[in-house]
Formats: sequence, C-alpha cells, structure tokens
Amino acid sequence: MDEIIVHKFGGSCLRDGEDIDRIGEIISNSSGKPIIVVSALWGMTDRLIRASREPRYAGRLVQDLIYQHLRFAPGLDTGEFGPLFNKVISGISNQLLNLSSGEVSLRSENLILAAGERLSALAVAHRLRSFGLKNAHPVGAEDIGLRLKGKGRAKEIDISASSEKLDREKLVGIPILTGWFGEGEDGDIALLSRGGSDHSAAAFAKLTNANKLILWKDVDGIKRLNPRWGIETPAIPYLGYGQAAELSMHGTPVIHPATVLPLIEEGIPAEIRNFNKPFSSTPTIIGPDIDTDETIAIGCHPGVAVITENKPLDSELLAKIEQLDIVPWLMNSTPEGMKLIIPIHEFNQLEKYVSGKVDFRTAIISIIGRCTIPIEHELVSKNQYGTRIIINSDNLSSTILELYHSLFSLQDCK
Ligand code: ASP
Ligand code: MG
Repeated sequence: MDEIIVHKFGGSCLRDGEDIDRIGEIISNSSGKPIIVVSALWGMTDRLIRASREPRYAGRLVQDLIYQHLRFAPGLDTGEFGPLFNKVISGISNQLLNLSSGEVSLRSENLILAAGERLSALAVAHRLRSFGLKNAHPVGAEDIGLRLKGKGRAKEIDISASSEKLDREKLVGIPILTGWFGEGEDGDIALLSRGGSDHSAAAFAKLTNANKLILWKDVDGIKRLNPRWGIETPAIPYLGYGQAAELSMHGTPVIHPATVLPLIEEGIPAEIRNFNKPFSSTPTIIGPDIDTDETIAIGCHPGVAVITENKPLDSELLAKIEQLDIVPWLMNSTPEGMKLIIPIHEFNQLEKYVSGKVDFRTAIISIIGRCTIPIEHELVSKNQYGTRIIINSDNLSSTILELYHSLFSLQDCK
C-alpha cells in the first residue's frame, strides 16, 4: 500500500482562491497517498466568533460567507457539493437565529464556529476538482467519528476512542478533512482551542498510520528565535518532540503544545514547510528526541508572575489551576513552602485564590538544547529539553539579543 502523507493547510494558506490551486500543485507533486486537513479560510474563525457574540448582524454575515466561499470556489453552490454547501449555510442561519432569540447555547456557538472548517473543506474539495484532482471530496471530522476528550470544548483528541470509531472507508480518494472539531464525550460537537487544527492533523496522522505529517505554514520552518525580537535567525533543521513542546510553551506561535502528542508513540515525523516556497525551502523536521550537544533555539514569554508562600500549595488553588487549564512553568510544593510560576495573563484569573507573595518579572526564557554559557539570571528548572530562566530587564529585546549572540556566535563559527 502507498505511504500515507497527511498535509495540513491552515488559514494562512487559504488567503485567496489561487491558494487552493497551489494546494493542488503541491498534492500533484507529492509522493504517497495524500490526506488533507484544513482549517477555516483566512480570518473566518474570528468573524464567526464575532457573529456568535453579536447575532443581530447575522443576516449580513451569512451573505458574506456565501460570497467569500464562492469567490474561493466558483460554482460550489451549483456543483456536486452544492446541497452540502446550502445545508451548512442554512445550519449557520438557524443557529444564529437561536442565539439572537437570547438562548445561550454552547452547542449553537460551536456549530457556528465549526462551520468555518466545514465550508473551507467544501471550497477546497470543489476547487481541487476543477484543478483536476477529480477524487477530492470533503469529510467532516465529527461525521466519521473523531472523538475529543471533553464536552463542548476540549484540549485534546481521544486517540483510542477515535481509533475504535473512525470510519476509515470515508478516507478513499483525496479526503479533505475538517480540522479543529469532533464529537465530544456527550456525543455532541466539541471544539479544540484556537489553532487546534494542527493537533487534529497530527491525530489523523496517528489514526491512519501515516508516514509523515506536513504542516504547511507561511514561514520557513521554526526559527531559532521568534522574529518579533527584531532579528531574522535561521530555521531549525531538527527539533525533538519534547523540545518542540518546550518551545511552544515559550512564545513560539508556529506550533501549539498539544500538536505533536499523537505522533510520539509511533515516532511519526512532522515537517513545518513554507507554503509560499513549497518546492525550494528546507523545512523544520520534528521527530523523536535525540541527544544533542548544541543549542537549538531560544523561546521567550514576556509577563511572569512568581507566587511564593511558607506553606504547601493550597488545594483550592490547585483545583482552579486545573480547571482553568493553566500550565505552570514551575509548580513546587513541600510542607515548608510552595513556589508557582505562571504567565501574568493567567494570574489575573487566579488572583482571588492566591494568598502568598506575588512578584512580577519581565519574562521567562527557555534555552532549548544544550545551554553552553553560565547563567547570570534566576534559574527556574533544567531538563533534557531546555533550561528555563527568569529575567528582569528594562529592555527585553536587547537582553534577548545579547543572550542569543552569546549562545550562538561560537556555535555558528564552528
Ligand atoms: N480555525 C481555527 C482557528 O482559527 C482552528 C485553526 O485554525 O487551527 O483557531
Ligand atoms: Mg484558523
């Protein structure tokens, strides 16, 4: 049997109709059997979120959705997928009507938001057929039994439940699968958090026993340092799963912390490739962790709250941390005292439950791979993936750049 390659195209690869033709070119030139996962068209999820909050503007939104998707995929409404397209559109209208009648319903909101992915899969499938890929067809993740861990909103896909339920026969030809949503534990629709389609794609890679996952993005792989700090640095050629998860907790927007989890057990590699240079750029490959004596990257997350107290972590506070899905950078508790380090924006939600001392710091940094220089800043933790330090600085950019240069200048001269 052909090797399966899962290709994920997010909103940044769906900015106009011609992008779908480029998807067609990529797929026509790729080896193996392709499975495609898409998210909503560029900007669409933000619009749907606004509409579900302001359902009075519903009429305009529905007209706009029809117009946008037909612009991407002319003839979609009258073609083979026309009935499905009209069904999704009238579904959105009905749910908006429910919301505007004052009914507060997470289910209605979820159905509206997930429609972004459904419409996108229809538009992509339709236009790929016009492009010449005649066996492209849309597949709704929920309809083929993708299960999420949770009700309504979920952090992760339930791989073992999905593996039992998944209707693999629907994956014939070139399936265009919807990312971001699936069926929750109560059988109703459930959504992942924002940007979750990468995780959906990783789950499909695992569930179909794929050889590789390619996450198409509008960047040249993952950079050693996020360009927001003012310099362009090389893309990282190879990143272990643990290193990728560590980096994603420290201000790297390219991947989401849950993305790689489904890939680890089988060691399925993920490639981050540039959609704008599909045949020329070198990707970042994410795969099994390997020992390295090099520094790989620097992650930085500004805004840190350090909470300390002379007693163990309070159970009410702990329950709140779990309930709010906060992932602390450090959580230590002994009979003598506790220390908790979290992002400032999460602290605001926890403040009521905190009784200890709170200090605010400029940023947390994680040095991924080997840390080859003496650390002059406060050390938080060190493990095989990274060294976390806290810094206080009036000029964060220049502190980061100094750190970058001292870590990489020697290595780059080798
Ligand atoms: N469309 C969703 C979002 O914008 C999911 C995704 O893009 O991964 O968050
Ligand atoms: Mg999106």
